Amino acid sequence: MFAACPVGADESLQSNIINEEKTQPFGMVCPYCNSENLEKGERVGICNNCLARWVDGIWYTKSEWETKFDEKLNEVKIKRLKSYGWTDKRIARVLEGYIYIGDTSEIVREAWGGPEDINRTITAYGTDEQWVYGLGNYVYFRNGKVTAISD
Ligand SMILES: [Zn+2]
Repeated sequence: MFAACPVGADESLQSNIINEEKTQPFGMVCPYCNSENLEKGERVGICNNCLARWVDGIWYTKSEWETKFDEKLNEVKIKRLKSYGWTDKRIARVLEGYIYIGDTSEIVREAWGGPEDINRTITAYGTDEQWVYGLGNYVYFRNGKVTAISD
């Protein structure tokens, strides 16, 4: 039995985005649509007209930025997943958001992200945990291994 991630990409990784180059200054107009409706922070700016991004000195169209952002997120995540010593097969399915009976809590956390809540029960058989995800999804653990997935 397996289940796909109900929540989507791990947004906590956003803070790991780092840019190497600094080439173009933030101009007074968007280089893509010439709009002057720009907002700028210390490291990032945005064109409110076409949603182009200015990030650490470089302009990206909306779709260029989304692609780059996804690539960078994946890069950071793959690096971390490899550090667990997992097989490529496991890394691939974790990236796709699949979890299985018998998985460790570490695998579930990487595949689905952290749960909204954890309910813990100590029994004669060990520690039972119910991980609560949005949209009525739950993952059940006994002693750190997945015993059931419900959605
Ligand atoms: Zn623009």
